[in-house]
Amino acid sequence: MEKFVIFGNPVAHSKSPQMQNAGFENLKYNAVYEKHQLLDGSTIKKTFLENNYQGANITVPHKEHAYANADEVRGLAQKIQAVNTYINENGKVIAYNTDAPGFLKAIESFKDVKSVLLLGAGGTAKAIALALQESNIDVTVLNRSEGKLEFFKKEGITSYSWNNFKPKKYDLVVNSTSAGLKDEYLPCDKELLEEIFKEAKYAFDCVYGKITPFLSLAQKNGLEIKDGEDMLLYQGVLALEYFTKQKVNEKVSEAMREGLKQG
Ligand code: NDP
Repeated sequence: MEKFVIFGNPVAHSKSPQMQNAGFENLKYNAVYEKHQLLDGSTIKKTFLENNYQGANITVPHKEHAYANADEVRGLAQKIQAVNTYINENGKVIAYNTDAPGFLKAIESFKDVKSVLLLGAGGTAKAIALALQESNIDVTVLNRSEGKLEFFKKEGITSYSWNNFKPKKYDLVVNSTSAGLKDEYLPCDKELLEEIFKEAKYAFDCVYGKITPFLSLAQKNGLEIKDGEDMLLYQGVLALEYFTKQKVNEKVSEAMREGLKQG
């Protein structure tokens, strides 16, 4: 039986095992997917190979370490410099980022998105910004502090901190900050958000399983809203395709969605 795993610290809260095991079961693929709490991210490649894992997902705070330790990084992950998926290819560790395409798939239900305001500049924002840029969708980053903007500027992405931001019209506003995850904060000033919402059509929050203050305010202002469940699901579906080297159909992805909802 093949072994798969999610590395994180903490990892106890992760729903990836129930989602991926539902996928394996549906595909009748002989594999098991478990949680692995990894304290030291710099040991990720050694741990992966020593445990004979065939594939892995990587979550906070190890995505950058996973990128730096891989034998080969494929696709947009080379630019993002963070990965969430490992595959064992004949003893070589191959790395991908499926958060970026997972996000693009999650926003497919929003029609005619040509411009996006992306709140936050952390690891998830890097994946989302580059995915949008690659899809020729105009993206502007707005972050609380200046420090993390350098990455975006180097990639030619318009980016502001709260201090120097001048809003324009955006079709979609995305919250990729952790505001609203474990607290009830908005990701930026309420009046500013309401001004932006007046002109926007859609709001997306990477946080899943709850209506955050951001989504609630967007809804009050008449926007169509969506939480991060589909992003989590689709990054998982794409990872499962790499794990099993086959296309995953709608029936399997819906079984994975049901898996997510368990427990
Ligand atoms: P990081 O820690 O890398 O970045 C956090 C970002 O949030 C920073 O830009 C930080 O700004 C900003 N921030 C934090 N608190 C506040 C606040 N109170 N007000 C305004 N800005 C704030 O996090 P990640 O990028 O890894 O994750 C971001 C979110 O995305 C999390 O909620 C995570 O759960 C979610 N996520 C969802 C996924 C899914 O599949 N649905 C996948 C991955 C992540 P500053 O630079 O000023 O500190």
